[in-house]
Amino acid sequence: MPALCDVSACSGCSACASICPKGCISMAADREGFLRPVVDAGRCVDCGLCQRACPVLHPPALPEQEPQLLAVLNSDDSDRARAASGGVFILLARQILKKGGVVFGAAFRPNHAVEHCAAETEADVYRFCGPKYLQSVIGDAYRQAKEFLEQGRYVLFSGTPCQIMGLRSFLGRDYPTLLAVDLICHGVPSPAVWNRYVRERALKDGGEPETITFRSKEKSWSGYEVRFRYEGAQYQVHHRDDPYMRGFLRDLYLRPSCHRCVAKGIRRVSDVTLADLWGAQKLCPELFDDKGTSLVMLHSEKGKAVWGALASQVRCAPVSQDAIGYNPAAICSVTPHPNRALFFARFADCDDLSALILELTPDPIVKPPSLYRRIRGKLGRMLRSLKSK
Ligand SMILES: Cc1cc2nc3c(=O)[nH]c(=O)nc-3n(C[C@H](O)[C@H](O)[C@H](O)COP(=O)(O)OP(=O)(O)OC[C@H]3O[C@@H](n4cnc5c(N)ncnc54)[C@H](O)[C@@H]3O)c2cc1C
Repeated sequence: MPALCDVSACSGCSACASICPKGCISMAADREGFLRPVVDAGRCVDCGLCQRACPVLHPPALPEQEPQLLAVLNSDDSDRARAASGGVFILLARQILKKGGVVFGAAFRPNHAVEHCAAETEADVYRFCGPKYLQSVIGDAYRQAKEFLEQGRYVLFSGTPCQIMGLRSFLGRDYPTLLAVDLICHGVPSPAVWNRYVRERALKDGGEPETITFRSKEKSWSGYEVRFRYEGAQYQVHHRDDPYMRGFLRDLYLRPSCHRCVAKGIRRVSDVTLADLWGAQKLCPELFDDKGTSLVMLHSEKGKAVWGALASQVRCAPVSQDAIGYNPAAICSVTPHPNRALFFARFADCDDLSALILELTPDPIVKPPSLYRRIRGKLGRMLRSLKSK
């Protein structure tokens, strides 16, 4: 029976289940709704592959070089409207499709769960655009990506930093045709909480949602709204007024491993990291229009080469590592909300999820500026001391 990583450190990346040659590791939801590996001891042959593929037990090597940091706007406003930040993901995806490649990303299923899927057309890739703030299910995606790579095809695999670490550990080597794209990730909420919230919204709003958008930027990027569209009706509120987003941003129901994430950092195993360039207004006012500005981190030569081909489709400028100070989730894990345990103790039996979230997060959603400045100052000092080493 293999000794997989500690339960609280397991990110659910699924590398162990994907690599098992006997198919005896399945991913099953725990009581909080997060998928975890479950080993069928009777069929396990103790080959040890699952342990070797665990990125927590055996972290893949990081690049030696610091990444190149850029502020970026996709010049096409309709691409940006669909995206969380500056609409960079779709540009990278088109590059891969142009070469006859395959793009992997997180898409809504008809039941509003989120899963990793493959896409070979632009229309299918649009399903990956925009963030889905819950942990997506990897399923067969790593194995499928490996098959395409073995056939010599180009593959763009996008996901959270832990999923990209999992992919690297599963593959065990780099492929010249793989472009691995991760995100700066705050943390992933429980799929069970999301599922319950969607059911509750459907009851309150009177129907099954046709589309759900976590970050509608109709009004602005910084003041983005959550939108559920129903036949003939709509729920659309500022993200601070949406109970699910409130619980997410207050760290009430993130995966335990997100509070001690091993995949955060400036140097990463991905080729490209995508994020919001919070602070764009100050760092590069010429690239701020409140419709979304991306922070792009280029880690590898492959990432830089793909980037070179996009020059005519973007407006961009180099930015310093001060950009990370505006986005602490890049390097620091968040602390669980003090009511996290109480939330999960009451979650299963609660009648009104929104009321429970609001009751347990009475604190303001925006942290006081003094604390924010303290964190930024601390990060700035850390980065400067790293640079001077
Ligand atoms: C759970 C989560 C937390 C995040 N936290 C932060 C943060 O703290 N700071 C920050 O700057 N940015 C964060 N982001 C990233 C940000 O929201 C954008 O996704 C990113 O900047 C890319 O934006 P884009 O405009 O280039 O393209 P978009 O079209 O917005 O990007 C879509 C990309 O995100 C991937 N994606 C969407 N949902 C998921 C998911 N559930 N799991 C895995 N991959 C997913 C898609 O596969 C696709 O690659 C987070 C994203 C997610 C999903």
